[in-house]
Amino acid sequence: MTEEMAMKAACWECGNMVKDRILYACPVCGGTLLHRYEQNVGQLRDDSGQGVWRYHSLLPTVPEASRLYLGEGQTPLISSRFLYRQLGGAELYFKYEGGNPTGSYKDRIAAVGLSWALANRRVACIGTTSGNAGAAVAAYAARAGIPYHLYVLEHMAEAKLAQVLAYGANVRKVAGFGTDPAVGDRVFHHILTSSVQYGWEMMITAFRYNPYAMEGVKTISYELKEQLGEIPSRVFVPTGGAGLFVGIWKGFAELKERGLTWKVPEIVAVQSEGCSNIAKAFESGKPVPVHGASTSLISGLQVPNPPDGALSLGIMARGDGSALAVSDEEIWEAQQLLAEKEGLLVEPAGAASVAGLLRAARRQPFGPGERIVCILSGSGLKDGKQLESMVKGREVPLLQSDTLNG
Ligand SMILES: *Cc1c(COP(=O)(O)O)cnc(C)c1O
Ligand SMILES: [Zn+2]
Repeated sequence: MTEEMAMKAACWECGNMVKDRILYACPVCGGTLLHRYEQNVGQLRDDSGQGVWRYHSLLPTVPEASRLYLGEGQTPLISSRFLYRQLGGAELYFKYEGGNPTGSYKDRIAAVGLSWALANRRVACIGTTSGNAGAAVAAYAARAGIPYHLYVLEHMAEAKLAQVLAYGANVRKVAGFGTDPAVGDRVFHHILTSSVQYGWEMMITAFRYNPYAMEGVKTISYELKEQLGEIPSRVFVPTGGAGLFVGIWKGFAELKERGLTWKVPEIVAVQSEGCSNIAKAFESGKPVPVHGASTSLISGLQVPNPPDGALSLGIMARGDGSALAVSDEEIWEAQQLLAEKEGLLVEPAGAASVAGLLRAARRQPFGPGERIVCILSGSGLKDGKQLESMVKGREVPLLQSDTLNG
């Protein structure tokens, strides 16, 4: 480790400050570390860089030669032409993260995490995922030339597994993983132990486990500020483990700290009712997620023990956010509406933000002057099976050419 690669971080739980050491959790209480940067970083953006690295002064220090880029970030902000009419005069925008190289915002995390791993000469990285994080890490690990050891559920979706295998990751399925909680604990323990024992980078997409890689998420907030000229009033965020929620909040909080905005938008975590541990805790004023198995069918939102759940609830308790839950049916409906009425094809998890917005608007219309952003976190082209089920039952007539005019 070189002097300038060391970071300053504060423990969210106990407030302990860490300096000049590479740590992934608080050495005092084991709590989550959130990185802090010099107040005077100069320009927010440096256009000599690419992708997330345009904001390198507010990211973990990585020498230019190790900064990986595959086209991540700078995703489009698209204004609504249809759905905004249901909001009572508010402006509505979609941040389309399906435009990232492997089809989800997880690429922002993988870009920072694998660059960091490369700069620190990690010989391998290790992790577990049910979906998008695997593809993102596999792509950037291939780019870095770093082997990726990935442990997956016994019944992982074929399409998502294929994408990971295509990038050459070392994948192992674990029997009972995904159905037996004790197996999940054992897999997790194995990953933690290997990362400590061999110095492998732990690529789990939560601040709780890798606060370096997760810094990539907040580039979404920086881009939103630049694309809108100012900050939105509300941002709706699909939420499983809550890393996306925390990252987006952190980006806006850093802009505020530097006087680049005067407030942080209300960040709204949208969960599926079948896995609404954070939303339930928020509604009943509890500081930690409510326990309970997931019954949701939405891949990406099935996280029974959200690693950044308590952190997200802490942010909400400060007044910077809220949480709500919608049914899987509302999510599929929002997915359909986005495709048919806005021309945006997203995966179900990516439409949860819009389902949450529509639910909130039914409760109480948003007035003019509101500027709302929905994060569309992943592309609808990721999973062919899912796409087929979206259009199941749709009749396509077969015509004889001699019945056609002209
Ligand atoms: C990972 C993921 C989420 C959820 O992010 P968390 O950080 O787990 O809350 C939402 N949508 C998509 C498409 C994802 O890949
Ligand atoms: Zn601590």
